[in-house]
Amino acid sequence: MIDHYAVIGNPVEHSKSPQIHTMFARDCGQDIAYRRLLAPLDGFRDTVERFRAEGGRGLNVTLPFKEQAYRLATVHTDRARSAGAVNTLRFDADSIFGDNTDGAGLVRDIRENLGITIAARRVLLLGAGGAARGVLGPLLAEAPAALTIANRTLTRAQDLARHFDSNVHASTYQELSGNTFDVVINATSASLAGALPPLPRGVYAAGALAYDMMYGTKSAVFLENARAAGAGLTADGLGMLVEQAAESFFLWRGVRPRTATVLAALRAA
Ligand code: NDP
Repeated sequence: MIDHYAVIGNPVEHSKSPQIHTMFARDCGQDIAYRRLLAPLDGFRDTVERFRAEGGRGLNVTLPFKEQAYRLATVHTDRARSAGAVNTLRFDADSIFGDNTDGAGLVRDIRENLGITIAARRVLLLGAGGAARGVLGPLLAEAPAALTIANRTLTRAQDLARHFDSNVHASTYQELSGNTFDVVINATSASLAGALPPLPRGVYAAGALAYDMMYGTKSAVFLENARAAGAGLTADGLGMLVEQAAESFFLWRGVRPRTATVLAALRAA
């Protein structure tokens, strides 16, 4: 019998996950069906339970349900705990396993696909929302020289920094003046609105990577601005999307799919 998976969200029709997982499955010779699952804003749990009762084996979880998915899971990985959010659910016989693969996806994209080392580099993370929190643990596990979180609302950055309690500093945008960074990651939702986080001049070190978690045309404003401000390399978040999906696929199927051809196919489309 074919195993069923889905991406659950609201809205969900924009999701590229069905394309990505269908390509992974074909590449790995795995017999799965993967679809989009729209849940009412007040009906996440019911929709998940129905999907599971009908034989569903696992779910990717997207906005706005990642925190609810965390509460639904009965077994959590460390990275899910540190993110306080779950983007991957696996329905096991007696438990619901919850993980967060966003951070692993980001790190893998930067390290393997872009060839940039995070270890011993100065990292600047913009934003202190769910996306920032989700990637902090895996970024810190790479042992950067220092990690600064800059956010419009300083208290949110301070809360995050305290939560992780290691080599993490919270900052306003103005306070960044005079500091340079090797890796700058935009985890704000500014690109969604065609806006720019108010970065002061001179934050990009020579050859720095500027990375926007947003992908496609919406990331252009941030990435063009970064190039003009001296970033040596720029990348959008499509690689992160594919890599976090690969990690989910591995959790479900025990096989790690190849990502390069899938990423190339999505870029070509
Ligand atoms: P949240 O709503 O939780 O947080 C939004 C963050 O953006 C806050 O820190 C907010 O600051 C900041 N912000 C919003 N507008 C501006 C602005 N104009 N200037 C400066 N800062 C701003 O969103 P998420 O953290 O969930 O998502 C952030 C982004 O990450 C989204 O665009 C999402 O698409 C992307 N993402 C990409 C993934 C991928 O696989 N590529 C995976 C997950 C997320 P403040 O606190 O001051 O309001």
